[in-house]
Amino acid sequence: MTVVAGPPARITLVGRIDDSAGLGPIIATLPPGPVVIDTAGVTFVNSIGMRDWIRFLRALREPTHDHGIPTLENVADVLMTQMNLLAEVRGTLRIASFHAQYVCNTCGREDIPVIDAIAHAAQLADLIAPPSPCPECRSAMELADFPERYLSIFRP
Ligand SMILES: [Zn+2]
Repeated sequence: MTVVAGPPARITLVGRIDDSAGLGPIIATLPPGPVVIDTAGVTFVNSIGMRDWIRFLRALREPTHDHGIPTLENVADVLMTQMNLLAEVRGTLRIASFHAQYVCNTCGREDIPVIDAIAHAAQLADLIAPPSPCPECRSAMELADFPERYLSIFRP
């Protein structure tokens, strides 16, 4: 499902990005100017959906559409790990915030917090995941995976 609001144009993607996502036609509905895409509600991405997504991001930057580099907010965990597998994605978008799997080493709580990628830009470029407060015991939660799985995309 897609919701477009604005200005600035704000696209909210919810559900699956797969064979039936049909992202291309969204572009024709957008007003000129910058685009913000929220994917917090994306639950599944397959390889065909990923190709559609990359094509969509590329089309936004084409001179005929001229929306510039899109800003991604609240990037879903599943989309984040997929995009980190593709070197071609780097530099084609701006990530303002993203979800990642975290774990609390004090109480064992697992969570998928939103990480502010602008406030932590310098750390992320060094592949260091910033700590996030545990919702259970307030200890500092740590990324529960290899930093490369989430942070390669921030490499300068
Ligand atoms: Zn905890």
